[in-house]
Amino acid sequence: MPPLTSNGVTVSRPSDTTRARLAKLGLHCRFDLILHLPLRFEDETRLTPIGDARQGAPVQVEGEVVSADIKYRPRRQLVAQIEDGSGTLVVRLLNFYPSQAKQFLPGTRLRLLGEVREGFFGVEMVHPRYRVVTKDAALPEALTPVYPTTAGLSQATLRKLIGQALANGDLGDTLPGELISKLKLPAFERSVKFLHNPPPDVLQRTLDERTHPAWRRLKFDELLAQQISMRLHYRNRQQRKAPALKSAGRLRTAFTRSLPFPLTRAQQSCAAEIIADLAKAHPMQRLLQGDVGSGKTVVAALAALQAIEAGYQCALMAPTEILAEQHYRKLAALLEPQGIAVTWLTGSLKKKEKQAALEAIKAGVTQLAIGTHALFQQDVVFAKLGLAIVDEQHRFGVAQRLALRMKGSSATEPHQLMMSATPIPRTLSMSYYADLDVSVIDELPPGRTPVVTKLVADSRRDEVTARIRDACRAGAQAYWVCPLIEESETLQLQTAIDTFETIRAIFPDLNVGLIHGRLKPHEKADAMGRFQANEIQLLVATTVIEVGVDVPNASLMVIEHAERMGLSQLHQLRGRVGRGSASSVCILLYQTPLSELARARLKVIFESTDGFEIARADLQLRGPGEFLGSRQSGMPMLKFADINLDVDLLEAARDAAEWLIRDHPEAAKAHLERWLGSREEFLKV
Ligand code: ADP
Ligand code: MG
Repeated sequence: MPPLTSNGVTVSRPSDTTRARLAKLGLHCRFDLILHLPLRFEDETRLTPIGDARQGAPVQVEGEVVSADIKYRPRRQLVAQIEDGSGTLVVRLLNFYPSQAKQFLPGTRLRLLGEVREGFFGVEMVHPRYRVVTKDAALPEALTPVYPTTAGLSQATLRKLIGQALANGDLGDTLPGELISKLKLPAFERSVKFLHNPPPDVLQRTLDERTHPAWRRLKFDELLAQQISMRLHYRNRQQRKAPALKSAGRLRTAFTRSLPFPLTRAQQSCAAEIIADLAKAHPMQRLLQGDVGSGKTVVAALAALQAIEAGYQCALMAPTEILAEQHYRKLAALLEPQGIAVTWLTGSLKKKEKQAALEAIKAGVTQLAIGTHALFQQDVVFAKLGLAIVDEQHRFGVAQRLALRMKGSSATEPHQLMMSATPIPRTLSMSYYADLDVSVIDELPPGRTPVVTKLVADSRRDEVTARIRDACRAGAQAYWVCPLIEESETLQLQTAIDTFETIRAIFPDLNVGLIHGRLKPHEKADAMGRFQANEIQLLVATTVIEVGVDVPNASLMVIEHAERMGLSQLHQLRGRVGRGSASSVCILLYQTPLSELARARLKVIFESTDGFEIARADLQLRGPGEFLGSRQSGMPMLKFADINLDVDLLEAARDAAEWLIRDHPEAAKAHLERWLGSREEFLKV
């Protein structure tokens, strides 16, 4: 006997099989079911006379079976005639059970839902949804929801479970009445019930486009949960401890003086924000944003020096070996003369070297450790880590950030500085980075000439090679970026080697180099070093060079099959040139015909060199999920709201979150629990 709830409604517990299938849809608890909204609706509230049914649209009809036979031509099928006084309809079932055949007895009354069309046997419905009814059986008053489902889980089961959840779940409002009325939003309970079972007269469009007030209520609630969670996390950090990194700034001053250029205004103000944070006894979590080439590395070095002068260690982590190596080379050259001990650590070090590096880090000899993700492996123990800097932070996952945080002492955690060259549009940073502080380098160092971008069809590549030859003979250096083969690393490698051979044959008088992801670290370092020293004029490269590589004399870039690449990838690649004072050119070779999306992307990259502009366009073309990657964002993806379209709701949610946390902490907590439940774990980074 199934258990009864207090209000007398029978609740059957789903079987284990059903529960496993629900889990596949991400439905684990009652509230998940409540938020499992229909894909579309079927209108079973009306009956259409068979004689009036139009072709092409789904209709519901009701009539009596006149005859039913199993036919064998053109194939085995059940063919029945249904009549309702206004006309006759043929119903065909191509796959059917004997039990179904028995339902089609002459005289049986059936209610059928499906599309009518002209068929082999006359006006027909093929495989309609149908059920046996008694005469004058009541019609439902609301539209029938059709839910997203998975194999083995019928609409009927889902409808039943969701109906139970709606009947028994707590649908009370988590928001104070004054907030609801200020925002002119409907109550939560009314909104969800409406979205599951809307009345037949509702405009389908407002449901599809999610503009109906009930939809807006759900989206607001979702965004609010996100904002509350991030603001709480932000506040939480103020309770945690970090070493207060204070110093007179002697090292910083010496470093700034040793640079061949003055800092830009933006670099200075970002550095000042960071230095002020580091002096506090709570962990900093700051994102330093700046377009490619804006000079983030120098700002990172200033932060590192602050930590070092205060007597702490700093770790600088980069996502690729090439980039880590470049940071190491540059920073060691700048800092070692000042007596600072810089240690290099990557996974590819020989055992003895690695052991030495680990010991130096553990003994506190190392002041600045530079490396790849090897830096936060288990075997790395810092004597006194005060600051962790993560370059190109979007390349790292949340788990890795968490691992870094654990590298502090038991009582404190290190400050964190994250750097990103993928500019994040305002709405996105509002939505996903509400728990971080952000500094923006919003100007490029002076004297840069913007990169000129040219789009050239692959059929004209001869002109391109002629141009590269002339420029390199005149002393310029160029990158030649191989086509991207995402599907297979082996194929990518082969393509790189083939491209290298072809290019070498075309330019016998130039020194041509090759760099790709499969080279050994010392081979990569060697190729980059020779390019840096201008021993190589033309460097054939895969997209391994996209992050951070800095060779100012390189002023030309050719990208093959540019149409295969994403916008931010193209922007990053293009950012490798235009770093010196020479005017630079980036040639995008593309293969025709272009897909619509590829055309749109190339147009954006051709028209703009502004990273923020490009990021905005990218977000629009791809959507936020792909833009950040759900794995990296550390935030369960928004299910209902769309931060491109719902900016007003996002802003309202941000303000409401502040207000709730301050004035109605209980409500904030209840709201968060309802919406995030177990998922809150995700956010504790
Ligand atoms: P990104 O922000 O892309 O990481 P980098 O830190 O690699 O940029 O800097 C790009 C180039 O600009 C480097 O060659 C660096 O030495 C140079 N640079 C940095 N700051 C300045 C400045 N204030 N004036 C001139 N050049 C600068
Ligand atoms: Mg960089």
